[in-house]
Amino acid sequence: MAERTVVILIDALGCELTDHHGFSPVNLPFRTRLETVLGFSQAALTSILTGSRPEAHGLWMMFSFAGGGSPFGLLRGLRPFGGPDRLWVRNLLRWKLSRLDRITAYFNLYDIPGEVLERLDLPARRSAFGQLGGGSRRSIIDQAYDEGGVFIRDYDTPEEQAFDELESALETGESSFHLVYTAGLDSDLHRYGSREERIGSRLRLYSERIDSLMSRFPDPRFIVLGDHGMCDVTGHIDLIKPIEATGLKIPGDYVPFYDSTMARFRVSGKRASAAISEVLERSTGGRLLGTEELMSLGVCFPGGEYGDIVFLCDPGTIILPSYMGSVPVKGMHGYHPGAPCMDSVMFSSEKFQGDEVSLTEIAGFLLPGFRGGDRKE
Ligand SMILES: [Zn+2]
Repeated sequence: MAERTVVILIDALGCELTDHHGFSPVNLPFRTRLETVLGFSQAALTSILTGSRPEAHGLWMMFSFAGGGSPFGLLRGLRPFGGPDRLWVRNLLRWKLSRLDRITAYFNLYDIPGEVLERLDLPARRSAFGQLGGGSRRSIIDQAYDEGGVFIRDYDTPEEQAFDELESALETGESSFHLVYTAGLDSDLHRYGSREERIGSRLRLYSERIDSLMSRFPDPRFIVLGDHGMCDVTGHIDLIKPIEATGLKIPGDYVPFYDSTMARFRVSGKRASAAISEVLERSTGGRLLGTEELMSLGVCFPGGEYGDIVFLCDPGTIILPSYMGSVPVKGMHGYHPGAPCMDSVMFSSEKFQGDEVSLTEIAGFLLPGFRGGDRKE
């Protein structure tokens, strides 16, 4: 059997956060600072697991602009009866997406208006933690399954239970690759910000759990890491009002997507493009990202599937209201990866070569011998 590996992936385990609260499991002496990728958890997790940047694996954002048909197209026919703000419409949509489209990836419809939603697509159809979940790239999960026993727990399992089940799996010894993903820290950080004592106590709980696992099972390689950091929110900007004041129409002139830190626009024609760019250039609290910068960040999609115009907030600023909601949060990620609060961190029982790397460079460390590359259907 291959060498046993245990990976604990804690969503939003930021480098600054662990420095501030003093998180450092005793048996994991090696620490590497990880630069994240531009985007949210889907982009970061897929980049970790495939060892490639978003433009290579293709899963940059949870929602893209639909080229042809949209999985939300049935909203058009339902319009006279209600939009996605109606519970029964949402339930029907969820049923359709899971049963007919067989989408197993995590998604949330948030507060996206129907007229926009019916023009969007869900680029990730499969869970990042399942087989074939790495977009157009092979992921370490694919290779781990090819090699033998795999133990994975993700969003679907409560954290305590996931750790209990990991302990049992290590006891029976049937798997060689183990991965537990937790989202509780991310959710607390959005709600309370990074400095609250409850964040420190949550980190201590993880640390104690990891210490006790490692003292019971000293042989496997242990790696604990995050996918991005978290920045405390200091202000917000309203983009929807000035964009709507241009008089441009959805969907004839443009289709917007207002995320918490990014606004993306699919535009038709030069007039719409110029008017939207002008509003965004005037806005404080963020800036437009040009093609060169998108290319250097590994998120350039020339087909416009993620938008022809991309606006990014400065660290600490959020777009409010946005499709993520109209209530301000205290912590947010999805900023430029160069912002120190966005850095994540990796603690490991074995030394990793390098003190500061991109999270696209660690797949071969998480699964030794990982080959990666494009996936053949
Ligand atoms: Zn988050």
